[in-house]
Amino acid sequence: MHQKNCVEILQDLIRFDTQNPPGNEVALVNYIHEYCEALHIQNDVYLYEGQRANIIIRIGRSTPENLVVLGHTDVVRAKAEDWKFDPFAAHISEGYLYGRGALDMKYFIAAAMVVMRSLKAQEATLKRGIVFVFTADEETGSAFGLSRLLTEKGIAGELSHKVVLNEGGGFAVFHQNTCHYLFETGQKSVCRLRLTIPEEPDSNPYFHTTTHEATLVRALDRLEKLVIDDEIPRTSRLLSNAFTDDPADTSHAMDAKLRNLIDTMSQSMITPTIIHGGARNPNLLAHIRATIDLDCRLLPAITKEQFVHKVETALEGLPIQVQVLSFSQGYEADIERKFIKLLELTLQKHDPAIKGLLPFITPGSNDGKYLKPLGCEILGFAPLHKDETFTTIMPLIHGLDERISLKSIAFCEQVLHDVCVEYLTGDAYLG
Ligand SMILES: [Zn+2]
Repeated sequence: MHQKNCVEILQDLIRFDTQNPPGNEVALVNYIHEYCEALHIQNDVYLYEGQRANIIIRIGRSTPENLVVLGHTDVVRAKAEDWKFDPFAAHISEGYLYGRGALDMKYFIAAAMVVMRSLKAQEATLKRGIVFVFTADEETGSAFGLSRLLTEKGIAGELSHKVVLNEGGGFAVFHQNTCHYLFETGQKSVCRLRLTIPEEPDSNPYFHTTTHEATLVRALDRLEKLVIDDEIPRTSRLLSNAFTDDPADTSHAMDAKLRNLIDTMSQSMITPTIIHGGARNPNLLAHIRATIDLDCRLLPAITKEQFVHKVETALEGLPIQVQVLSFSQGYEADIERKFIKLLELTLQKHDPAIKGLLPFITPGSNDGKYLKPLGCEILGFAPLHKDETFTTIMPLIHGLDERISLKSIAFCEQVLHDVCVEYLTGDAYLG
């Protein structure tokens, strides 16, 4: 019987329409289930209402050093009429495979499925096991995915204190002719704040009074100047040091997109999102004269209390109330792990032009946040070929004409394979 290769498996996965909402991941999960059954690989499917399904696959024995590979099977919605090719046809053109989910993140699941075949064949020689967790609903909060799966009997225990490979990194960046790979080691905290300017009765009409809008502008100006990070975490320092422009070398000034990316990853940031003001604004409640909503992406070292205190101090003297609408704590992995060396050496084995790995903290969010409280080290490492750089794939993720190069599919499969085999059969990269 013909064993499907990685490209064919990825095409099959893309052809299951798992746009979320509504998700409907069940048919895709059945496909993975049947694939495992045919190979006699142990797997459990968790089916939730609304055709939402999750699958956990295990190869090798259960040990404290088991490796976890995490992936989500849902994709964001695609407007087919705007695409060059049908987003669910998995069309191949000029070396690229097109489809919603090609990059986010069905290629990694396809690569993992091929790797499973090889690991199963050498199961008897594995010193530790591997657990593949493919979940639903990542794109809209994981209520039918990882978040719910962790409440199932035994799952949180099995996954706790593990090294986890996840989406979010393994992408090339070039600076001054040097190729580094960035991998995700943490997520920023996300804080949503609302600043409110209440109506104040004019106690003395002869006094000069400022308008509420002027207060808004002052508040934004002060927040713009606010230094949020007292201490830059090591991850961010490593990253910015590697990309410091040499002032003497103007021929290699950093690409503006890359500069922006590096800055976003190495600083806390406040972005105003919705501003309401003006007389008789129907969006404002009675006795409220103006509001600003702020989206704040913070390096994980700062706590909610410290951050709110900084904002309040910066706004001191202005008639403004600060309200926290939501706060989700970020995290950072331990970058000293030997396992990271394995990732780096494996990349270099397949492409000697790669100088090294650099950690970054993502301003975005993914399912890693549900495993961090279990004591896991979550590494965003789903490598692509260096010809598909970080800045070229960014607009494609959740974007139009999402596609992955056939070279990247092969590269991901080979690197993931070698990382898994080396880690599961050897002892050099424990701890
Ligand atoms: Zn994703």
